[in-house]
Amino acid sequence: MPRVFNFSPGPATLPEPVLRQAADEMLDWRGSGMSVMEMSHRGKEFMSIQAEAEASLRELLAIPPNYTVLFLQGGGIGQNAIVPMNLIGRTGRADYVLSGDWSKRSADEAAHFGPIRIAASSEEGGRYLRMPAPSEWKLDPGAAYVHYCANETIGGVECFWTPDTGGVPLVSDMSSNLLSRPIDVSRYGLIYAGAQKNVGMSGLTLVIVREDLLGHALPTTPSVFNYQIQAKADSMYNTPPTYAIYIAGLVFKHVQSLGGLAAMEAHNRAKAAVLYDFLDQSRFFSNPVEPADRSRMNVPFWLRDTSLDEVFLKGAQARGLVQLKGHRSVGGMRASIYNAMPIEGVRALVDYMREFEARHG
Ligand code: PMP
Repeated sequence: MPRVFNFSPGPATLPEPVLRQAADEMLDWRGSGMSVMEMSHRGKEFMSIQAEAEASLRELLAIPPNYTVLFLQGGGIGQNAIVPMNLIGRTGRADYVLSGDWSKRSADEAAHFGPIRIAASSEEGGRYLRMPAPSEWKLDPGAAYVHYCANETIGGVECFWTPDTGGVPLVSDMSSNLLSRPIDVSRYGLIYAGAQKNVGMSGLTLVIVREDLLGHALPTTPSVFNYQIQAKADSMYNTPPTYAIYIAGLVFKHVQSLGGLAAMEAHNRAKAAVLYDFLDQSRFFSNPVEPADRSRMNVPFWLRDTSLDEVFLKGAQARGLVQLKGHRSVGGMRASIYNAMPIEGVRALVDYMREFEARHG
């Protein structure tokens, strides 16, 4: 079976050279006589793997030295609780900006840990089709932090600017767009991301946090989710997700070999343009998101005649275009086109959509 074009929102397609290297090193990692899966996390081999992964990530994102990188578990949904547990204690309250289902979930979870205020929301009639504009953000200068989601994986709404929050630390859920383009880390207090989109495989959660924000955890915070404790232990307070860290390290090196995040941005812009240009001229397929806020990572789209959804998906599958079904909460279709999706995959999808429209439109 040849490899398919996999449009899954995550776990998602990975670069083939990374998978090949992992396969080559599976039984004997560089003369160690064992697989990375079998290594003690405290042995010199794995310690070097983790240190190298961190160094590559720091180089890719130009992470300033006063930021700590943590390799944790629990995913983005875990961070919805772990962020407030660690940060809200600074002033006792926090602001949340809503641009879709994921930021809404973050705010709902955070409300268990202290008073949360919605500083802005683009919700209209139960849908989120744009980023709230900077002028709509009504920020509380006394908030411990402001949280927003940089890319709404379900709704396909992405924030392409860095919010200005004055002195209030900015917290960003970048689960689905980290490493898709350069960002200025120094503008953030904390960035988190589940790894299973652009970074690697599931099981690993990246947290990049400014050091002065550590040390405010609520007393009930589990030690394993206390950023300061994990920072002191080099993310080894508990056994870290070793194999996922290894895969992330291979992905970072691969992205570096392709020219880093500027190259990723050019590649992702080109791919997204192919799909959105087609959608905008189509009379059969559509995407309702405000053009300036359309995600370059996740492109939801709808057929004019939804009774053909299943026919569309079956035909796509037959051509090796898989995992296009939209999120169960919104229906329709969704093409996730992360870093590792080649432009050929997007072109093959558009060719199929054009033919489908000609036949059924
Ligand atoms: N935030 C965003 C933006 C996501 O896309 C996801 C997963 N799709 C999550 C949070 C939750 O991630 P996890 O399932 O790894 O906890």
